[in-house]
Amino acid sequence: MIDNNRRKFVSTGLAGVAAMSVAGTGIARAAAGGAAAPTSVDTVIPPPAQVYLPVTGEAGKFPVRRIHCVGRNYLAHIRELNNNDAEPPFFFQKQRDMIVQSGGKMRYPALTDDFQFETELVVAIKAAGYNVTPDQVPDLIYGYAVGFDMTRRDRQSDMKAMEKPWEIGKSFEDSAPCGAITPIAKTGFLERGRIRLDVNDKVRQDSDLDHMIWNVREIIVELSKQVELGAGDLIYTGTPEGVGPVVRGDHMVATIDGLEPLVIDVV
Ligand code: MN
Repeated sequence: MIDNNRRKFVSTGLAGVAAMSVAGTGIARAAAGGAAAPTSVDTVIPPPAQVYLPVTGEAGKFPVRRIHCVGRNYLAHIRELNNNDAEPPFFFQKQRDMIVQSGGKMRYPALTDDFQFETELVVAIKAAGYNVTPDQVPDLIYGYAVGFDMTRRDRQSDMKAMEKPWEIGKSFEDSAPCGAITPIAKTGFLERGRIRLDVNDKVRQDSDLDHMIWNVREIIVELSKQVELGAGDLIYTGTPEGVGPVVRGDHMVATIDGLEPLVIDVV
């Protein structure tokens, strides 16, 4: 009797999974290709909320698909954490529901005593791209924003020592604050510009985008070899030196020349 019930449960579950995966595949392909996703699909649970970022000077918002991050893209930051400066940058990911909007509150996470900021240029992608050439890169960029790649530095260090993935150190609730996007039509192709963070009115990071090891063009070429980029993707392009901890009550204001500031309170 119990076995029969279990078989019925498994059978129902499998049917549900098969139906969901067919619908899911269609949506993913449509999104990567730039086409609109279906708008009326019956779902067995409430669908996850879409995440949007505001766009400077536009009523429409930017819908977020994936979040890619570049690790070790500024020499002075590699050296401050005693990492190997002979190795190239690399990529990891966060999830779109980990974004905190500018003006919002970022919850201090569990499982850390060393919650650190990394102030980064964020590139917003507007079209699909796989194995793109350098000259195709400008056609993929919608605009730019200021972001924080928030990090449980103690947990990241533990995982590095164990030669395990960084997930626990990088990918968690509120770990990807991001400001409003400024369209590339207003900024031009960004290759330089001051990037700065103040915490409680004291300067903590102050560098220039031209110190990146891989510039934005090179980042997108390399990343598109590894995954297919899609409209709505965000790329956090790595932090300059000066990373450090915040605590509850801290007020963070990050700026990059020509972009909207990112303002976040730690709670
Ligand atoms: Mn980073």
